[in-house]
Amino acid sequence: MNIGRAASRLLSTMYRDSGTNLASLSPAQIKTWLDSFDTVLTDCDGVIWVDNEPLSHATDVINKFIDNGKKLFFVTNNSTKTRPEFVTKAVNLGFNVGVDNIISTAYLAAQYLKAKKFNKKVYVIGTTGITRELEAVGIEHIGVGPDNLQGTLVDAVHGFSPDPEVGAVIVGFDEHFSFVKMMKAATYLNDPEVIFIGTNTDERFPLPDRVIPGTGSIVNAVTTCTERPPTVMGKPNKYICDILEQQYKVNPERTLMIGDRCNTDILLGKNCGFQTLLVETGIHKAEDVAKFAQSDDPETRKLVPDVYSGMLGDLLPYL
Ligand SMILES: [Mg+2]
Repeated sequence: MNIGRAASRLLSTMYRDSGTNLASLSPAQIKTWLDSFDTVLTDCDGVIWVDNEPLSHATDVINKFIDNGKKLFFVTNNSTKTRPEFVTKAVNLGFNVGVDNIISTAYLAAQYLKAKKFNKKVYVIGTTGITRELEAVGIEHIGVGPDNLQGTLVDAVHGFSPDPEVGAVIVGFDEHFSFVKMMKAATYLNDPEVIFIGTNTDERFPLPDRVIPGTGSIVNAVTTCTERPPTVMGKPNKYICDILEQQYKVNPERTLMIGDRCNTDILLGKNCGFQTLLVETGIHKAEDVAKFAQSDDPETRKLVPDVYSGMLGDLLPYL
């Protein structure tokens, strides 16, 4: 289905360089906008839930999208859960979704290797979220779980016999990340034939009085030691679009990306040619959008969403 000319004209006048506040649109404009996409991608944390609490009316909006026949995908950079584990959480919170509605970085990493007809072993810095997705596509793996220095550093280095079957290294979130794991990953990656995948590059999880290092911190540590860049699966990298177009026949022009973070969610939308909606229930707010819009740097201006609104539930009256 092509976007109608009238709708296309409306959208081009609606979208301002500084982003359009949903509240500034008439109900008719909002309806036309909602009709201009048939695929909805949404980030999870900060958009539909925060930790284990669904955000106000987010379940109603998501379930309405599905009832109205939109293709819907939760797109998450979290690599610690498999897709079935995400479904369990989502269903418990009232979302009518199944495995095919979830795109996670662990799933993307497994699909990436499957598409390459990869038939060796993967050294994994990560959790069972990654290894179970690898098992689902029949790929062997080693490395998951604690692996700390036993004895001296010299013992650890000389006691390590690299597995000649390893043909890829995946780095995701790993609370057991250690010097020994970094040494092993970098040793495998010293062979330029070995594939290097990072699940995502989120720097950290901010809490009010603590900082939890995010996957990006671990990926960057390995990258520094390896001296070559990984292929990154997560937002804002374009790899997700390839999977969506090839496996799910998604048309980027008729796709809306919803997120709470401009440098991952909104930038993914821009990188893939999707329409974008920022909701202010997570990281970035209207003030940030205004700042991005005023920047002289075109890369920063890419962080401006097409539309922004206080919360996802604001769409409910129009669905
Ligand atoms: Mg988020």
